[in-house]
Amino acid sequence: MGEEQFRAGGDRSRLRAMAYDPNNVFARIIRGEIPCKKVYEDEHTLAFHDINPQAPTHILVIPKGPYVSMDDFSAKASEAEIAAFVRAIGKVAREAGAAETGYRILANHGRDAHQEVPHLHVHIFAGRDLGRMIGKAPA
Ligand code: AMP
Repeated sequence: MGEEQFRAGGDRSRLRAMAYDPNNVFARIIRGEIPCKKVYEDEHTLAFHDINPQAPTHILVIPKGPYVSMDDFSAKASEAEIAAFVRAIGKVAREAGAAETGYRILANHGRDAHQEVPHLHVHIFAGRDLGRMIGKAPA
């Protein structure tokens, strides 16, 4: 889902996000229409376990506001939302015990990054050796 949320205008440099879809799965979690395994919440931010974990610890941190991706959020969010989001990421990682052994944060934007859910989310991965950086492009 969400793949159609992004359109390339001829080449990758012109990738543009479409309008926010208020019925995406994370918007529905924020509204309480779909359950989640919540680990943290404040006025601006929610964090919960990923439904399909890729590491022993795999938590998603999302802003409650309607932002498609980091592109959108970094341009339009308030200072309070940005501060809350960044502090929540650090707090959630610390409270999961990940700050001691190490963790990786990752946010996908758009087609080339294979973003699936069109609501900004930062993944926190931890609990094992995560390897180095990103994978190779598919052949
Ligand atoms: P991305 O490819 O960065 O858009 O990642 C989307 C992530 O959302 C994936 O890791 C999914 O497993 C996760 N996900 C999708 N639906 C849910 C859900 N209902 N609750 C928790 N995580 C979800």
